Amino acid sequence: MFTDTHAHLDFQDFDADREEVIRRSQKEGINSIINVGSSLKGCFAAVDLASRYENIYASVGIHPHCAGEIDHNGFKQLKNLLLAPPLRAGAGRVKKVVAIGEVGLDCYRNLSPLALQKELFRKFVDLSLSENLPLIIHSRQAEEETLGILKAKAHKLKGVLHCFSGSRDFLRSCLDLGLYISFTCNITYKKSDNLRELVKLIPEDRLLLESDCPYLSPEGMRGKRNEPLNVKFLAGFLAGLRGCSIEDIAKSTTENTGRLFGISMSPADGWVSSDK
Ligand SMILES: [Zn+2]
Repeated sequence: MFTDTHAHLDFQDFDADREEVIRRSQKEGINSIINVGSSLKGCFAAVDLASRYENIYASVGIHPHCAGEIDHNGFKQLKNLLLAPPLRAGAGRVKKVVAIGEVGLDCYRNLSPLALQKELFRKFVDLSLSENLPLIIHSRQAEEETLGILKAKAHKLKGVLHCFSGSRDFLRSCLDLGLYISFTCNITYKKSDNLRELVKLIPEDRLLLESDCPYLSPEGMRGKRNEPLNVKFLAGFLAGLRGCSIEDIAKSTTENTGRLFGISMSPADGWVSSDK
């Protein structure tokens, strides 16, 4: 059993064969997927997907690239999505909106002004605390700025630093803040020696897997669309680096996903689509 804690299945890259991609993931043993909202429209689509598939969960947030697109009214719409979230069917009815994200800072591409990014990130950190939902944090070439905002709320923070690509010091600070760390298949790229060293430092109970699909296909498939099923390949790759078995990685990352996001799945739960 594997979990993909960060997918963008709502993107148009999947319009032609979304259902097939989801079925393929299931066949490969991907037991749950968190579909991460990154724009206002994307958040609605993420929640809609989560309402249609038992094992797909949603996260609600605005990517720093899109910080300029959200006004007061848009933020209110996002909060409303949290108020009436779809529930997982069955006895243990579980909320399907399980996180605030992806939110954060990006000084690499700088697609929106940093001051705006910071203001919005602070609002989302506050929202995660008031809603008691974990954060899915994007931070690219913004280590100091990210830590500045997170440390102000350090006492109650919970969340994951997604697609980790930072320095050793940044990793240490994130772990000290109690954050989980997730890796994508960019760790398989030739230039990622740094990440291959850092992944060995993550405690077993803080590691998560993600595809970040449609982006970041594994080495050898670069340029092609990525899919959730590749977290299985990632798990095997991490097992090799950390000197454990793929079963160990599957078990710990699935447990970690359950603990952080409040998702508890058993293989028997199946993948029922309500075909709405
Ligand atoms: Zn993402």
